[in-house]
Amino acid sequence: MSKLSIRDLDVQGREVLMRVDFNVPLKDGAITDDTRIRAALPSIEHLLKGGAKLVLCSHLGRPKGQANPEFSLAPAAARLGELIGAEVKLAPDCIGDEAAALRAGLGAGQALLLENTRFHSEETDNDAAFAKQLAGSAEIFVNDAFGTAHRAHASTEGVTHHVTTSAMGFLLARELEYLVGKLESPERPFLVIMGGAKVSGKIDVISNLMDKADAFLIGGAMAYTFRKAQGYAVGDSLVEDDKLDLALEILKLAEEKGTRFLLPPDSLVTNEFKEGAETRDSGVFGEGGAIEDGWQGIDIGPAGIEAFVEEVGKARTIVWNGPMGVFEIPTFAKGTEAVARAVAASDAVTIVGGGDSVTAVNQLGLDDQMTFISTGGGASLELLEGKELPGVAALSEA
Ligand code: AMP
Repeated sequence: MSKLSIRDLDVQGREVLMRVDFNVPLKDGAITDDTRIRAALPSIEHLLKGGAKLVLCSHLGRPKGQANPEFSLAPAAARLGELIGAEVKLAPDCIGDEAAALRAGLGAGQALLLENTRFHSEETDNDAAFAKQLAGSAEIFVNDAFGTAHRAHASTEGVTHHVTTSAMGFLLARELEYLVGKLESPERPFLVIMGGAKVSGKIDVISNLMDKADAFLIGGAMAYTFRKAQGYAVGDSLVEDDKLDLALEILKLAEEKGTRFLLPPDSLVTNEFKEGAETRDSGVFGEGGAIEDGWQGIDIGPAGIEAFVEEVGKARTIVWNGPMGVFEIPTFAKGTEAVARAVAASDAVTIVGGGDSVTAVNQLGLDDQMTFISTGGGASLELLEGKELPGVAALSEA
């Protein structure tokens, strides 16, 4: 990895600005899940132990460029203080005189949190003057907010132009290690499991991994665009009709490259989109299986589960992005659950690449059985697409 790491920095007595992701869920002003704050602790504690004067910044929610107490980071400052066992003051604004004075008053090994960066529209506009003010007197910047690294905002990209050194924090480095590093020369067979609603959102991931992967398993509604393109009856299943040609191209490309591209052999179908609805098996496509009008494919079927679980068992590296069906409704969650359990039981390197598959894994309590679970949705997809993230590209070279 070519970017400078937090490990390489000498921060003793120096002011360090670190972008963290404290975008925590709140209810009535209380944090309902502090996972994101705890996830930033390794970098925070490393810098404090190293004697940094640590200035933290983050966004919270979508206050749309206006100061709004509903989106204040005050609960996050309090929670961080409890976790590190020291007071963490909150600057009432992320820029301006008061923030500057609080920053100047920091001692080595002390931390300050700046108020929500998105109280200013200049944050998402990546305004240069705002970024310069945010950098303030810090010469060192650390980015540990993976979830926003795919956005060129003032606190992720702009700020790097106003400091001498920019490095990645531990959280960011770990995301890059698994979503990029481990996939450069993966242990084989390398299996990619894709699902979710749309082919269009995942097409670039498929293209990027086509050369690297040995096999793909395609679940979710995505599969019906492929099945329709192959000429099967898919009833009322969610299909992207403008992507049928693309689906055929992907199937052809996989064949040319010798990459196995597995669609679920059958589907669970329903005529009602609700818990407890009647369900049937479509039967195996190519052996008389079909989905009638008025019915839609909602999950992979029993033969699909068996085939996919068997594939998972053979893999040595697995990347999984996207549920196999509408897993939010228990009646339609069996396929996603079976795949999640198989991936968890596998002794392969297992990487859950963000979004809804992470939700499914957490719901099933399987999170600690995965090698790595990405904390980013959009950012992890962009890495799997082979893109460089602006918030990473802007960091100093090692
Ligand atoms: P994505 O954000 O593209 O990963 O899509 C995730 C969403 O796809 C989840 O909310 C699922 O409920 C939905 N989904 C998965 N399979 C199907 C299906 N067969 N029909 C409709 N929606 C689906």
